Amino acid sequence: MTLVNHQFRLAARPVGMPKRSDWTYTEEPVGQPGPGEILVKVLLISLDPAMRGWMNEGRSYIAPVELGAVMRALGAGQVIASNNPGFAVGDMVAGVFGVQEYALTKGEGVMKVDLRMAPLPVYLSALGMPGLTAYFGLLDVGQPAAGETVVLSGAAGAVGAVAGQIAKLKGSRVIGIAGGPEKCKYIVSECGFDAAIDYKAEDVKSAVAKHCQKGVDVYFDNVGGEILDALLLFLNKRARVVICGAISQYNNTTPIHGPSNYLSLLVNHARMEGFVVTDYAARYGTALREMAGWMAAGKLKSREDVVKGLETFPDTLLKLYKGENFGKLILQVAEA
Ligand code: NAP
Repeated sequence: MTLVNHQFRLAARPVGMPKRSDWTYTEEPVGQPGPGEILVKVLLISLDPAMRGWMNEGRSYIAPVELGAVMRALGAGQVIASNNPGFAVGDMVAGVFGVQEYALTKGEGVMKVDLRMAPLPVYLSALGMPGLTAYFGLLDVGQPAAGETVVLSGAAGAVGAVAGQIAKLKGSRVIGIAGGPEKCKYIVSECGFDAAIDYKAEDVKSAVAKHCQKGVDVYFDNVGGEILDALLLFLNKRARVVICGAISQYNNTTPIHGPSNYLSLLVNHARMEGFVVTDYAARYGTALREMAGWMAAGKLKSREDVVKGLETFPDTLLKLYKGENFGKLILQVAEA
């Protein structure tokens, strides 16, 4: 029986929020693996804020998705055919498989995962790319010390919630900024943050002034825009501003809202530094072992928001930019 692969391909470069007409839904027969290749049945697709950037033309840290190509996405699944000695039929794997039901790959960048250690969705969440982003962004770029004050935006999200928990493990005081009472409650009562700021209901500047009376030593920024600008006003001497992302700006049709308070970096001898998680690929193994240890000891929680059905992809992706996901957003395409 010939297997059929359904896919979402990029049809047009979006202006603002991606529309249904920016995608085509296609089907084609599943190919056989060539020499050195494996065939993966995709079970879960990771939906990430960065996907919006990959749809744009122009220079970035990675080439744009070509028009007509299957949309790039991380995912997890099972090897169902293999011509690669590194992978056996039945292996559970995570990698860049695209927004589709089956992926043929040579196995580069594909990681085997162990379901005895954690369920499959966790490998797209705290023990996957978002967890690694939190780990390296916080520890290598932010370098929080015990007793310092760390503020994070996007704090209830896949990256933010893990970064905040790691900051707590390192002995920092942690304040999270998130949208809505449920997310704020989650980061304090479940993730152990010291306080939360609901940016949809509170004035961020007054709330930061109230919660950070000794100033801010590390600001881990996931959202950019006005929240970044507000935080720059509270930096301590030699503070570190970690530019992880700027989700408030990804669907702009006007120029990006830059930080007008940047001279705070000068007067406070502070540093603002961006990073991309793949810079740290050589150290993924060490980081994952440490994070898996924290999870096993009950010191690190992972939260996923799983939506079923490949066909829901165009609408489900938008949840990220509307704040409608609560945890790592994952599309479930098939059951194991
Ligand atoms: P996420 O936080 O799980 O989901 C996105 C969240 O962003 C939404 O739930 C929403 O939370 C918040 N948001 C959306 N629009 C917003 C706006 N206009 N203003 C403020 N908040 C807004 O996503 P994630 O995967 O953890 O990614 C978080 C950030 O990390 C993104 O900026 C992403 O691009 C970045 N990132 C960077 C790297 C890297 O290598 N540098 C790697 C992975 C991710 P609320 O309900 O709280 O508003």
